[in-house]
Amino acid sequence: MNTIMLKAYAKINLGLDVLGKREDGYHEVRMIMQNIRLYDKLTMKRINEDKIILKTNLTYLPTNENNLVYRAIQLLKEEFHIKQGVHVELQKHIPVAAGLAGGSSDAAATLIGMNRLFHLKLSKNDLMERAVKLGADIPYCILGGTALSEGIGEVLTPLAPMPNAYVLIAKPPINVSTKYVYENLKLDEQTKHPDIDGIIKAIDSKDLHGVTERLNNVLESVTIEKYPVIQEIKETMIQFGAMNALMSGSGPTVFGIFEDLNLARKAFYQLKIEGKAKQIYLTDIFNRKRG
Ligand code: ATP
Repeated sequence: MNTIMLKAYAKINLGLDVLGKREDGYHEVRMIMQNIRLYDKLTMKRINEDKIILKTNLTYLPTNENNLVYRAIQLLKEEFHIKQGVHVELQKHIPVAAGLAGGSSDAAATLIGMNRLFHLKLSKNDLMERAVKLGADIPYCILGGTALSEGIGEVLTPLAPMPNAYVLIAKPPINVSTKYVYENLKLDEQTKHPDIDGIIKAIDSKDLHGVTERLNNVLESVTIEKYPVIQEIKETMIQFGAMNALMSGSGPTVFGIFEDLNLARKAFYQLKIEGKAKQIYLTDIFNRKRG
């Protein structure tokens, strides 16, 4: 087996709470993570030359140590003294810097790919332990499916699968710095924290309405204040039949949850017409956990 192909799935946050700031500067979070069927594709090949060669369809993405795929390969190459090289072709479909964990998911798929390509015999937990060195969301991307994420994102509890639904994704053409959002987050008595436990209960009882009525992301207050277009996109989705809509991660991507495919299609075309979002995808909840 010299070549393998992998899919790296995007995630949305059905709930995102920030509990406070730790002494080391990281924020303590409580989030419900959910994969959606929107993915990057990676083709990984073993090569004899001791080199990491990364090619991607997005010319503006780095292909050196600044790409998480490169760093994931480097991490395992060094630990296991691998003297062969790796050639990776990364086909990006997940919007970049969007709050959809695209880079984290690519890194997770790369660790899984390295494990298979070089027969490293690492368990899922072994991979997750290494993943956190590259980024807080990467262990979740290895686990996949529906999960509660706590700590700085690395303390994971798998949950029952989220009931299926259509998911409309819309990213306005703005760049949101995650650092800016966290730095400007003010937590006080006025903060409306998401009902994370209520979402978990609703997921457990396969109650899609129970989940959607509780969608809440504490970071919206910061990002929407700076970029009101996010609120406008949410309103369009709801007006056109979404059960509810929310910003994912630190933004700026908005996702809407739909029970009805026809309504989701209509909302999709409406967003196209309005032109506020430039990257729009109609997809659905993806629940298969990685084996
Ligand atoms: P998160 O939801 O975890 O905050 P994100 O979706 O907001 O992630 P990414 O798409 O992962 O953000 O990219 C953020 C930055 O990381 C980009 O500016 C990019 O230069 C860099 N990056 C490194 N590796 C990758 C990769 N494989 N794919 C996309 N971006 C990458």
